[in-house]
Amino acid sequence: MVPKNVIVERTPSEFWSISKYKVSYTDACIDCSLCENICPYGVHMRLSGHLKMHQPNSSNCIGPKCKENPFYCVSLCPYNAICIESNSDYMVLGDSMWTRDLLLATWYQAETGEPPSDIEYRIGNSGGGFDNLRFKFEKEFKDRIDKEKIKTSITLNKRSYGARINIPIPWYSAGMSFGSISLNMMLARAMAAQAWNTFVSTGEGGYPEQLVPYKDNVITQLATGQFGVTEETINYARIVEIKYAQGAKPGLGGHLLADKVTPDVANLRESVPWHTLFSPFPFHSVYSVEDHKKHVDWIIAMNPDPDILISAKVSSPTDIEMVAVGCYHAGVNILNVDGSYGGTGAAPDIAKKNIAMPIEYAIQKVHRFLVDEGVRDELTFMVSGGIRTAYDIAKAIALGADGVIIGTAELVACGCTRCGNCESGRGCPYGIASTDHELVELVQPNWGAQRISNLYYSWNNQLIDILWRLGLDDVADLRGAGLSEKYKKYGGKGLLKFGG
Ligand code: SF4
Ligand code: SF4
Repeated sequence: MVPKNVIVERTPSEFWSISKYKVSYTDACIDCSLCENICPYGVHMRLSGHLKMHQPNSSNCIGPKCKENPFYCVSLCPYNAICIESNSDYMVLGDSMWTRDLLLATWYQAETGEPPSDIEYRIGNSGGGFDNLRFKFEKEFKDRIDKEKIKTSITLNKRSYGARINIPIPWYSAGMSFGSISLNMMLARAMAAQAWNTFVSTGEGGYPEQLVPYKDNVITQLATGQFGVTEETINYARIVEIKYAQGAKPGLGGHLLADKVTPDVANLRESVPWHTLFSPFPFHSVYSVEDHKKHVDWIIAMNPDPDILISAKVSSPTDIEMVAVGCYHAGVNILNVDGSYGGTGAAPDIAKKNIAMPIEYAIQKVHRFLVDEGVRDELTFMVSGGIRTAYDIAKAIALGADGVIIGTAELVACGCTRCGNCESGRGCPYGIASTDHELVELVQPNWGAQRISNLYYSWNNQLIDILWRLGLDDVADLRGAGLSEKYKKYGGKGLLKFGG
């Protein structure tokens, strides 16, 4: 159910706009505004009192396929003065994971709160992973289920002790540190988390005081560098996340290059400005389940609230199922397996492209092993790393996760083009992954929060639609249901197929 204080508000970008097509007028245009009256998509307009046509709103144009319509402006303009061409800015966007259409579709959802009608918003073009999986929407269940009653909430604690924390949507926001992203971007994510009554993790860069008003929805991350981690910041949290590894760079700690370590960043991390910061790998105090348990016990003992929940973030090595069951025995409430498809431009290519098990295999392995061990229903299993769409969320759950953790998609909602320059010089040209005091102003917290919230709204509706089309009235029933019939014991109903 959508929380009461969530509202969808149209939230366009003030600084950038990349459209699929570029509409322009030639010198033959006499500004008669005929096209304004014929295009139903609002591309053309002449503002009241103006003699000249306004610059066309190219983002609304559906391009050459409009030729089939009786209102195709290019044909109807009596002066043959309208040009529609592919936008060269659009043509250079994206990669196979985040295709140019997926970027555009995510921006559209962040602006409007609904998916676009004519751009692919469900999958990318990687040829593998979630892009190669499809739901089998074969049976007609539509009459049996009331969409309004479909449940999308999950619990973050399945154990018989500890706080009962439920979130209304099966996802929360991944750790991104102050320094890797701007403070404004952190605030935007925290505000969206608060509106949706879900969570966002601090990442490993300390806990800026501006986040404190949102502390009930902020997870404190504790990682190997322990940058900016204090007893106070651990005590703020209802959930503490111990980060053992990241899927985008397993075997490597986090790192923040010198250019982004401004005095503010260094101050919060208790380090020296303009010096590159590396987190060691691994925790040199943890080499066994017992060591891991000591860590968990230490956090619980330090916290005045004995009901605090503990999450462990791990990457996806080939023996991930052993890691998962180890986390269970160490006493964590949330297991976060981070796959290799994620990572911002801060992760080096050699790590992003060459290490860790594809997440779609890791999820099934972990789910089945936890079922076999008899502990599946005592651990909340969250998956992160390359979750880009509502369909990715549903597929991850259908393979055996309880929910997912979102990272890059939120940055895309706020204008990220996936250019990969997060770590260069002043950082992100859109002010997202930057610590430059001028660039960061490009993302204002309220604006960013509304864009993220709009994206969530669109995803939530799509997830409900997927469940409805599969004949399920609770997202919990989707868990593992994508596994083939052969895996009935694990919840398998064969709801997923390859390709198509
Ligand atoms: S081509 Fe169609 S959608 Fe595009 S501006 Fe002309 S009438 Fe509008
Ligand atoms: S747009 Fe900004 S956040 Fe996105 S990849 Fe480029 S530098 Fe990084």
